[in-house]
Amino acid sequence: MKPRTHRRAVILSLGDELTLGQTLDTNARWISRRLVDRGILPVEHVTLPDDLDAIVRALERAARQADLIISTGGLGPTLDDLTRDALARAMGDTLVEDPASLEQIRAWFASRGRPMVGLNAVQALRPTRAAAIWNKWGTAPGLVGEIEGAMCYCLPGPPAEMTAMFAEAVEPALAPPGGIVIQTRALHTVGLGESEIATRLGALMRRDAVVLVGTTASGGIVSIRIRREGPSADEGAIDQVAAQCRDAVAGHVAWEGDPTAAQALVEALRAHGQRVGVVESCTGGLLGATITDVPGSSDVFLGGLITYANELKRSLAGVDERSLDAHGAVSAAVAQEMARGGLRAMGADHCVAVTGIAGPGGGSEAKPVGTVFVCHGRSDGLTDCRQLRLTGDRGSIRTWSVNAALSMLLFACRGEAAPGLLRQVR
Ligand code: AMP
Ligand code: MG
Repeated sequence: MKPRTHRRAVILSLGDELTLGQTLDTNARWISRRLVDRGILPVEHVTLPDDLDAIVRALERAARQADLIISTGGLGPTLDDLTRDALARAMGDTLVEDPASLEQIRAWFASRGRPMVGLNAVQALRPTRAAAIWNKWGTAPGLVGEIEGAMCYCLPGPPAEMTAMFAEAVEPALAPPGGIVIQTRALHTVGLGESEIATRLGALMRRDAVVLVGTTASGGIVSIRIRREGPSADEGAIDQVAAQCRDAVAGHVAWEGDPTAAQALVEALRAHGQRVGVVESCTGGLLGATITDVPGSSDVFLGGLITYANELKRSLAGVDERSLDAHGAVSAAVAQEMARGGLRAMGADHCVAVTGIAGPGGGSEAKPVGTVFVCHGRSDGLTDCRQLRLTGDRGSIRTWSVNAALSMLLFACRGEAAPGLLRQVR
């Protein structure tokens, strides 16, 4: 098939498990990012249950809004897998069996020494005017057809199958980047609320600007997202707006660009030839897990101590019994001793300690749930302790704590003090 130039895409995520909240839709996000990289603008994400009429209506509506439609899910062999029927109806077509698909499904079962169940033959059906897309990673072939001039690709739901098929069969059929170029920049900030940032950005956030600026807040990080679309790239135009945004929030940018906080941290530590260790209480290993999610983190991450109980704060991190008695486990003094103990134990350039009350129980008037101390210690003995007063459930308190620790490290890597994320204790 000749590659086609597309400008606007609608992404459909299909399945009861998505609308019921049992499975998180990660497919739409993944597909959107790949399309944006190719200069195709996703204009809508639609999530629908396994309901034939709803899917047909959504396909027809998507065809009026966009010239590219990508759906995932609903290509299995059972009665709740309705994408084949929906595509046929939206195309005004009927289903036929695709002999090549049937053979591929048979071969898939044979290669695994399993008998093919009769039901799987349903997966070889396609609208007469659609083509099947070979699925080498599972039994559900994809489909590609045209609905009122819009190309519609239907891919299976399992992310591993979907991503492999997208790369192998969909991407090569999209015209190479160049139709329009979508440029993005992102500044990830700490220590300012979203409304404070919006006030500082002022007219930069106007919706009719050529370079669009928006903000999103998540886990204590407010990200300023900058986007420009045009027939060709204009680095100068977007960089100028990025510079204006950077000035407006000077001192608050923890990192920039597409990477996550942990990816940015691993990169920054590697660039500076530094290594980090962690000592965790209320995050129970989440900080270490977040850092080690990043491939290649072994270059910069030494390890961590999970000192949940006071005995271990004493025996592993060398926290003084008297500090625990005088100040309690959730205190700046103990956080500082945890960080120092971690530095001693691990010989790291940086160590961050986190101790706090994640709730729902364990709070008091003086130290309510959400009281968290994050202490950054450096190999030269300097420490920087911050007190966070967080709200929310146990999960968000732990996530915010991890993000605060990562942010402090990001600033520390550059030799800067983190802004007043949070109230500075000493
Ligand atoms: P299906 O192709 O509808 O049979 O989907 C099979 C499985 O793929 C589901 O049970 C989910 O686990 C997974 N899945 C489907 N859609 C998505 C999605 N949008 N994001 C992440 N996983 C999905
Ligand atoms: Mg399904």
